[in-house]
Amino acid sequence: MVIFVRIKKFMDMCSNKSNNNGYEKFEVFDKNITEELSHHYRGILNLVGEDISREGLARTPERVAKSLQFLLQGYQTDPVEILKSAMFREDYRQMVIVKDIEIYSLCEHHLLPFFGKAHVAYIPNGIVTGLSKIARVVDVFARRLQLQERLTLQIKECIHDTLKPLGVAVVIEAQHLCMQMRGIQKQHSITTTSDFTGAFQKEATRDEFIRLIR
Ligand SMILES: [Zn+2]
Repeated sequence: MVIFVRIKKFMDMCSNKSNNNGYEKFEVFDKNITEELSHHYRGILNLVGEDISREGLARTPERVAKSLQFLLQGYQTDPVEILKSAMFREDYRQMVIVKDIEIYSLCEHHLLPFFGKAHVAYIPNGIVTGLSKIARVVDVFARRLQLQERLTLQIKECIHDTLKPLGVAVVIEAQHLCMQMRGIQKQHSITTTSDFTGAFQKEATRDEFIRLIR
């Protein structure tokens, strides 16, 4: 038996809500950081030849400053705590798949977005976690300056080290704006990365996972 979850829109983190789980990030911006970032963005706009006194740009530095803090909020959250907040003893030892988790991240080389989908599976070894927690772990790592390769590895290691399952599989498919808007301008290329531990290193198990996420 396979538990199969498709998460269409994982946008919980965009809400203003907070709760007492101890890890939930809410949309409060640090006033000093916002002011400092705004100051730098005004300088950047000036340097690229903009007239920062024109009306349309009046609040742009502040908006970008807040936007950047939102996009990089993953630094404020410990993904291990997310998993630990919902760990349950359960004798289920079959594949659990969470597929089509939307990811939005920023490449650390160009500070341009890369975005796409992550598919994550694990085979519990006596401990399961809440399905939404897997998607949250993906989100926390994605909301940092990243490389797709490292993002894949970090998600795998976090689940592996925390739940100690029989195996973890992570596949990420993403488009990189640093390839599409600049550089070689390949508009439709998709980069796929994958990482597997334990039982997923066996061909039959890995093939089953790949078949189920297609
Ligand atoms: Zn890049």
